[in-house]
Amino acid sequence: MRLLIQNGYLIDPSQGVNTGKNLLIEDGRIVGLSSHGDGLPEGAEVFDATGLVVAPGFIDMHVHLREPGDEYKETIASGAAAAVAGGFTTICAMPNTSPVNDSAAVTRFVIEQAERAGLASVFPVGAITKNSDGSELAEMGEMKDAGIIAVSDDGRPVPSAGMMRRAMEYARGFHLPVIDHCEDKSLARGGVMHEGHWSLMLGLRGIPAAAEEIDAERNCLLAELTGARLHLAHVSTRGAIEAVRRAKEKGLPVTCEVAPHHWTLTDEAVQDYDTNTKMSPPLRSREHIDAIIEGLRDGTIDAIATDHAPHHADEKALEYDDAPFGIVGLETSVGLALDRLVKPGVISLERLVELCSVNPARILGLENYGTLRAGARADLTIMDPALTWTFDVSQSKSKSRNTPFDGYRFRGAAVATIVAGRTVFIHPDFELRRIGEKSMTRTQSA
Ligand SMILES: [Zn+2]
Ligand SMILES: [Zn+2]
Repeated sequence: MRLLIQNGYLIDPSQGVNTGKNLLIEDGRIVGLSSHGDGLPEGAEVFDATGLVVAPGFIDMHVHLREPGDEYKETIASGAAAAVAGGFTTICAMPNTSPVNDSAAVTRFVIEQAERAGLASVFPVGAITKNSDGSELAEMGEMKDAGIIAVSDDGRPVPSAGMMRRAMEYARGFHLPVIDHCEDKSLARGGVMHEGHWSLMLGLRGIPAAAEEIDAERNCLLAELTGARLHLAHVSTRGAIEAVRRAKEKGLPVTCEVAPHHWTLTDEAVQDYDTNTKMSPPLRSREHIDAIIEGLRDGTIDAIATDHAPHHADEKALEYDDAPFGIVGLETSVGLALDRLVKPGVISLERLVELCSVNPARILGLENYGTLRAGARADLTIMDPALTWTFDVSQSKSKSRNTPFDGYRFRGAAVATIVAGRTVFIHPDFELRRIGEKSMTRTQSA
């Protein structure tokens, strides 16, 4: 099976490609780039990518899929459908399901369900401790053999430095990155939003920035002590970003990610008590957003990850204090990145591709992902940076609707998602044709 992506603008920072070219795919692999005007391969399908950006497939390294256990919120299949609709070819499934993914059996289950769905690639993240309760290390080796690509107790951060040290030493032996949700629970306890001006105004209990920063510092020190690969999930504070910056200056193997809501909204958004503004870590104040922007610009932040966290509408309909933390994010991430970062010139398209594809592949050790090199997996994210669209959550592929971005208007979208050479998502304005057929791409103008 052959697919020709024609006349696209190819951006692949993994090999310094930034040029208008054709891209040929065969049997799920990338064959190579060719110049516009070269002869068309017989029998190939064609995607006319004129005016579009063609990038190596986007990888969301932080997603909650809720299966097994809470399939009413999300299944692996519904989450994978939302992923490809949002431009992601690969997602990583966090282990805080019921049961927790702390065993080879749950790891295998996740992989099998994802294969059955046949949409995005799904790589499971295994738990650091059994049942993620912080008391006993999980069997990382068995989970690695079954297919995990990292370990994390996300949602229930490893509480003690001693346990985290042992976890890092153990994970290092298996070449697994340790992903930590940095939050000192003794400081965060009972908090539902960022501690500051707005928590005082609204009479809601706050979570100080220090709760994240203390754990970020602790983890960077432990990475230095153990030599383990450390990745900080969803950094949201100036201090956490500065901790990563210092660790990198020392040459430590420390990386971090940021979630789109943390550069888009401040804690002021909580003032209507909309529980779709309640997430962990919480929306922060302006000074922290400025630090995130700085980190995205200067390379301190390595990856964009959604922390997609589906919850049922009935749960989110509770009082602010009682509603669960988290929002869905797979279908708005690329829009928020193109509209809020690329359009105003905060970052370049090339840097966006680094943050969404090249770097996540490198952090997770996924060879043949995050690149358009000949022979690599034909995973592609095709974007129209000029397409203006409105997000309508009622049309979401996710089973959950908990987002503060319903009705948001964006300039820039993912318009096609290709996984191992198969077109698994295509925006209704675009279509594939066979060579020899009359061109019908771009059935309507954006
Ligand atoms: Zn988390
Ligand atoms: Zn999470």
